[in-house]
Amino acid sequence: MNAEDKWIKRWRDDDIFKAEPDPEKKKFFLTVAYPYPSGSMHVGHGRTYTVPDVIARFKRMQGFNVLFPMAWHVTGSPVLGIAERIKVGDPKTLRIYGDLYRVPEKELESFKEPLNIVKYFSKEYRENMVRLGYSIDWSRQFLTTTPQYSRFITWQFLSLRDKGLVGKGEHPVRYCPRCDNPVGDHDLMEGESASINEFVVVKFRVDDLILPAATLRPETVFGVTNMWLNPKITYLKVLVDGEEWLLSREASDKMRECGRDVKKLGEVSGEELIGRDCVNPVNNESVPILAASFVDPDYATGVVMSVPAHAPYDYVALRDLKSDIKPKTIIDLDGVDAPAKAVVEELGIRSQKDNKLEEATEVVYRREHSRGRMSSFIEGYGGLPVDEARVKISSDLAVSGDGGLFYEFSESPVVCRCGSKCVIKLIKDQWFLEYSSPEWKDKTLNCLSNLSVVPSETRQNFEYFIGWLKNWACTRRVGLGTRLPWDDKWIIEPLSDSTIYMAYYTIAHHLEGIDASKISREFFDYVFLGSGDAVEVAESAEISSEVLEKIRAEFLYWYPLDWRLSAKDLVGNHLTFHMFHHTALFPDELWPQGIVVFGMGLLEGEKMSSSKGNIILLEDAIEKYGSDVVRLFLMGCAEPWQDFDWRSELVENTGRKLKQYSELIRYSIDLDNSIGERDIDRWLLSRLHESVRETTEALDSFQIRKALQHAFFEFIRHVNWYLRRCEPRAETLKEVADTWIRLMAPFTPFTCEELWESAGNKELVSLSPYPVPSPDEVDDSVLVGEELVKALMDDVRRILEVTGSKPGKIHVYLAPDWKRLLYGELSSGKSMGELMKNPELRVHGKEVASIVKNTRVDEIPDLVFSQKQEFESFTGAKSFLEEVFGCSFVLYRSPDYDPKNKAKASRPMRPGIYVE
Ligand SMILES: [Zn+2]
Repeated sequence: MNAEDKWIKRWRDDDIFKAEPDPEKKKFFLTVAYPYPSGSMHVGHGRTYTVPDVIARFKRMQGFNVLFPMAWHVTGSPVLGIAERIKVGDPKTLRIYGDLYRVPEKELESFKEPLNIVKYFSKEYRENMVRLGYSIDWSRQFLTTTPQYSRFITWQFLSLRDKGLVGKGEHPVRYCPRCDNPVGDHDLMEGESASINEFVVVKFRVDDLILPAATLRPETVFGVTNMWLNPKITYLKVLVDGEEWLLSREASDKMRECGRDVKKLGEVSGEELIGRDCVNPVNNESVPILAASFVDPDYATGVVMSVPAHAPYDYVALRDLKSDIKPKTIIDLDGVDAPAKAVVEELGIRSQKDNKLEEATEVVYRREHSRGRMSSFIEGYGGLPVDEARVKISSDLAVSGDGGLFYEFSESPVVCRCGSKCVIKLIKDQWFLEYSSPEWKDKTLNCLSNLSVVPSETRQNFEYFIGWLKNWACTRRVGLGTRLPWDDKWIIEPLSDSTIYMAYYTIAHHLEGIDASKISREFFDYVFLGSGDAVEVAESAEISSEVLEKIRAEFLYWYPLDWRLSAKDLVGNHLTFHMFHHTALFPDELWPQGIVVFGMGLLEGEKMSSSKGNIILLEDAIEKYGSDVVRLFLMGCAEPWQDFDWRSELVENTGRKLKQYSELIRYSIDLDNSIGERDIDRWLLSRLHESVRETTEALDSFQIRKALQHAFFEFIRHVNWYLRRCEPRAETLKEVADTWIRLMAPFTPFTCEELWESAGNKELVSLSPYPVPSPDEVDDSVLVGEELVKALMDDVRRILEVTGSKPGKIHVYLAPDWKRLLYGELSSGKSMGELMKNPELRVHGKEVASIVKNTRVDEIPDLVFSQKQEFESFTGAKSFLEEVFGCSFVLYRSPDYDPKNKAKASRPMRPGIYVE
């Protein structure tokens, strides 16, 4: 049995990661997004799940009662699509599952049944997680399709509905016509990040023909000076709701896909309409139709209104045309006339082709959105803040029939996992979560302001998303999952049934033994909120009151959740939903306490992608390098929130370093002598205690890479220096080994267990106390003294490089004490005049002046030794230096031999040197 298997068995036999409530101990509860097991685990997943494990192990060794659970998110329709494609023998799917994931043929056959796919891969995930040494409490594991979990989701949605947070209505959704189902991010093969742009359409008129100008800023309709059409394209005349509309061919197709009744009446070229006038419905003004080649038929309706005062593109286009049309300012922004013009001039934009136009548009949008108000002359809207005016005009236009909405994807194509192109569909009886509710947003912002965010700059992204989030379609027609309790033709979709399951972890193992059909809404009301009658609740669940109380107590012991970890592409949905739902369902003392957001993974510089085959399976990496090397590389190559790059060459380097670490520890454990303690021993032990402090501080703020720099890479250098520098003392190295193994145990648990056992310990290192920083053990003067020696070596080396000859003798001149006095006076800010009042300095007047002239105060070291201390530091290293340079060293406190006048150049902490 290899070392990894041996420790996995020991941890399992001793059941050391099982978390039980213990009122005597402080708890620490962290969770990471549960995986959707529809494929094999690759090294990118390895990073996601190793981060929480390192933190869990660190906290456990610090004496916390740690809960780190895991479960499987199998809700939704992706596996239905996969099963379907396997059934029809889709070559690409078979290639991924057969060749890339190496699923045995017999198993692959069984994948025609969707649930078999998630069962197979959740088993594989668990095996990999165990092999990587994750300290997970598996007793709480569940699939999101288990009946007990469904009861929990049922409770969640009934509660949300009763609070008025689930609504029903017409709603645009991404839709797959072939699956006949709305699709979520997980269901997509392409276009995962595509959102639905909602344009407001304003109906300008040329006689009876409607020119539907599409805009994201309907409030600017009052500032329209002209219309833009592309003379090079052929527009369609179509019948929409009894009206005659002008649309690009692409726009007409999109409207039809949306389910609108669009009938083609004829064609008309853009050219024909150029030069005519059309009427603005909000003020009955006639404006000219001008030619613009920049009008893209595949963007919205292909009909564009021009607002030069507030849209930089329009302003520049008119300027390029040398038109005499003047911008019409309709938003007051700090008294600026035509803000678009101002920003275009500010950025020095020359023409329509200038790529700074995008930036200009954003700047104007941001300024007007945050500070702009509608100009007072606009009837019905004057004085309104821009964002309010935008909502009001769009609803006024809809009511009067002068406007409407137009939807399109923010990017295309959007392709379902089944291979079909998705469309936007208006679903009439769609259920949605009302994230647009201002009260709900306020509560969630309150939650955000009271939790920690790592990295801290992500906080503003959350603020943005909470503000921006609109109602969310939370049900689907098909897929695995929990049915909507009051309308069972709908299934709750995956991003909506995964928002508060952290609470479910605290009680999952208790529910396993209870008949799901007996778990009522009142059961969860009691367990999570303490409301209702305990006796009745226990009776209807057919459990004893003691068991019920135990379940409630366990929830209260672990909650609130201390840390939630997830990837950065889930900031705008999952992580934000997580906050929303907690604020709606739980009292504020149970709201989440912290969020960590991960960066993405690259493979040899390229984006990891299963569908492109650009991944390394975790099991292959473990097989090749070993679990600890995989962990160490993943944690050492980037901080959790940074993107990381898996490069096999660097992984191999990491392997060599870990081997070196093991060898240093084994050497330390085996060493036997009775050398007494010297400065150099105190130096290594001071370094050790420094590393303990730095590592602990870094781990406390999730800076795992930084922690490893201190605990591992730097400390290996320190030990190597020590071994070079002196005959190693057994007692020193034994103390180092004892602390260093524990310091590294959260990162490389297998190696550390093995070494810990070799050092004669019976207890597991995983349960041993983490080293505690002890500032008293750090001796600053020996640290500084050793730096002096290193600096002297560097200086001598530089001199030798210049002379190029082999040294005969090296003379080292230590600065006299008056120069040390001068450094002290300089750092306390004394002027030349004040310095000259001191008789000890006055006698060296000329030299003092020269030193003062050539020394910056910030260059003076914090700690300046006396000459005697400096002399002792160098004396202690003399024989070492002589060995390194192969010649003798002479140290001078006051020079009696100085043929090249080098003593004059000496400074405190930086002696003068003469190489003979
Ligand atoms: Zn589909």
